[in-house]
Amino acid sequence: MNKLKNCPECGKLYVEVGQKMCPACYDLELEQEQVVHTYVRDHDKCSIKQIVEETGVKEKIVLRMLKNGRFINAGGAVITYPCEKCGAEILTGRFCDKCSQDLLDQAAKLDAKKKATAKVDRSHTMYNAGRDFSS
Ligand SMILES: [Zn+2]
Ligand SMILES: [Zn+2]
Repeated sequence: MNKLKNCPECGKLYVEVGQKMCPACYDLELEQEQVVHTYVRDHDKCSIKQIVEETGVKEKIVLRMLKNGRFINAGGAVITYPCEKCGAEILTGRFCDKCSQDLLDQAAKLDAKKKATAKVDRSHTMYNAGRDFSS
């Protein structure tokens, strides 16, 4: 049985037949995906921001295409998107190299601190044991 639903894009009632929006919006989205696809094919290295600005396609759609791996087949295109921490353009993961490193450093520091406090007594004793303080 087909169900009537409100299109999340334009709010119109439509008959749900598998796609998550009304046929008009669905067609439009397919068209826009094609536009983005063509743009990416012609621009080997571009950012999401650039695609959105140049094609006028909603960022949401471009991001979804990226997450679905739609750009992987687009002739080896390099698509960048903003780091979740500082906004720098990145290619993979959620953070740029700098922020990933920062996060790793922070984790390492915390870890080192824990180990240092646990070891400090013993290393102090060993250090003194090897020295002559009588001079
Ligand atoms: Zn619609
Ligand atoms: Zn960053």
